Amino acid sequence: MRYIADVPTTPAATDPPLRPSVLTSARRAAAVINAFAGDPAPGDLAAILRAHGEPDPVDLTAGDVDALCAAAALLREVFVAPDTDGAAAVLNRLLRERTGPLRLTTHGGATGWHPHLDHDDDASWDDWLIASSCLALAVLLWERGCPPGGSCAASRCGNVYLTQGSGIERRYCSRRCATRERVAAHRRARTAGTRAGRDDDDRLN
Ligand SMILES: [Zn+2]
Repeated sequence: MRYIADVPTTPAATDPPLRPSVLTSARRAAAVINAFAGDPAPGDLAAILRAHGEPDPVDLTAGDVDALCAAAALLREVFVAPDTDGAAAVLNRLLRERTGPLRLTTHGGATGWHPHLDHDDDASWDDWLIASSCLALAVLLWERGCPPGGSCAASRCGNVYLTQGSGIERRYCSRRCATRERVAAHRRARTAGTRAGRDDDDRLN
């Protein structure tokens, strides 16, 4: 059982300077997916998007939330894919079916040039989330040669997380889940040991 330090879901000041936008987009994807484990209100999702650098106004309607929920379900497939080939296959399907060609934009001079895969700067929130997430997750898979993320192995936890850059296998979304599973495994082992001891006693008697 292995737990690797949590990957923060918000950008850190110590992020590598060359690719903060890739990591930020990937973290935003994971945060939005995990938010839909519950029933997020438009304001909750807007707060997540703002925390990952989306400038105001971030006005989401109930319809936007429904569309983002469907987008998050599609993106979750990248995280639950069993291996690198599987994650690449999911990304290729989403890139084929849900994104436009790679283009560069400054949003009319408001930002520096950066890549987009959505069809235009006025794309819907769900199209934008899928396109920006696919771009970031594809770059991470390319760069690291491993799945860009995974889903928590703890029972009753569906959270997704980003894979560490080191390539060391990670299984849990958080220290809390890792501890809970370790305690549960310990209890199971102790119960099994007690039972095995009783069986041995039965055989000896
Ligand atoms: Zn978890």
